[in-house]
Amino acid sequence: MTQTTELYQAYIADTYARFPVTFVRGEGAYLFDDAGKRYIDMGSGIAVSVLGYGNAAWEAAVCAQAHALSHVSNLYFTQPQAELAHILCQRSGMKRVFFGNSGAEANECLIKAARKYSADKYGENVRPVVVTLANSFHGRTLATLAATGQDAFHHTFGPFPEGFAYVPPNDTAALKAVLDTQTVCAVLVETVQGEGGVEPLEPAYLDAVRTLTQEYGALMAVDEVQTGNGRTGKLFSYQHYGWLPDIVSTAKGLAGGLPMGACLLGEKVADTLTPGSHGSTFGGNPVCAAAAVAVQTQLTDELLSEVTRKGEYIRSQLSGQPGVQGVSGQGLMLGIACDKEPKALVNALLARGVVCLTAKNKLRLLPPLTIPWDALEKAVTIIKEELAK
Ligand SMILES: *Cc1c(COP(=O)(O)O)cnc(C)c1O
Repeated sequence: MTQTTELYQAYIADTYARFPVTFVRGEGAYLFDDAGKRYIDMGSGIAVSVLGYGNAAWEAAVCAQAHALSHVSNLYFTQPQAELAHILCQRSGMKRVFFGNSGAEANECLIKAARKYSADKYGENVRPVVVTLANSFHGRTLATLAATGQDAFHHTFGPFPEGFAYVPPNDTAALKAVLDTQTVCAVLVETVQGEGGVEPLEPAYLDAVRTLTQEYGALMAVDEVQTGNGRTGKLFSYQHYGWLPDIVSTAKGLAGGLPMGACLLGEKVADTLTPGSHGSTFGGNPVCAAAAVAVQTQLTDELLSEVTRKGEYIRSQLSGQPGVQGVSGQGLMLGIACDKEPKALVNALLARGVVCLTAKNKLRLLPPLTIPWDALEKAVTIIKEELAK
């Protein structure tokens, strides 16, 4: 055993079932372990490293900002945060941004903004309920665990915050019934349920969520923590549809490898959060914000259409192949239902130099959006072989 894994065993809280690899370096879409072995990255550190590793503009922006100023807190103004918020609002159709450091925090802000909007409009505790979907995933803090629509997450750590209700996905009647209680401030959805097994919601259902929330005076909130930042072939996945949500959370790929989350506030809630109502010491940190600007600059329409093309390539190569039951997802966020046990499959792929993920009972692929075609083709060939074994 290497010293690193021994130190983990001795000193790191035992919260993760880790694969037996220590990565030391990355280059483009490749990762290298401590023995110098090269891997094709088909996981991006869970949808984070959207530009791969060592992207020149990203690295230059991070180094320059670390050199100039790494942190001052939100008691003051900093340039990268302003520039990033401007870009995000221009590209998303949202009006203001609150910056945090993770997906869970972005969702905490989203929940607080929805509750405050409702309290301001209807009175405190009149419509506090945030409706989420069965099989969703919204984070690991107490409130976002409560928001997560999976019973497996609702034990051990209680009592949990109240004011959440769950409905089955793609069931418009169930949504109507819960909205009829007149207690709902927001309906929160992932357009593609990532941790829930890469399950896309039906477009007609998403349209219905938009129409019904409007009809009932509730907010439509979209968790774009995993689907955002180009992952599905649009900057944000709701941009595949013809409407805007009222609130959006995002994180994972936002800063291309540094911790950053954001809650994007649409027209209705743009002025809901007031001084003192929310905060974060590190939120909008200049180094993370400079990194995120470098990411945004590179998520061009050309790159996004490449994401769509690459996703279609993977789908066409794996659909109907031996050992494959089906391929779900959108863009470069794909789930492969397969005959093999997914954890064992990931281990076999690691041995062959391909890094993949699982989601529920599926193999999950989330490669860097910039993965070169030759690396992608090689990874897909190996994945196809292992699926068929
Ligand atoms: C990963 C994820 C989160 C949680 O993000 P963290 O950065 O781990 O807190 C929330 N929602 C969705 C949809 C996610 O995929």
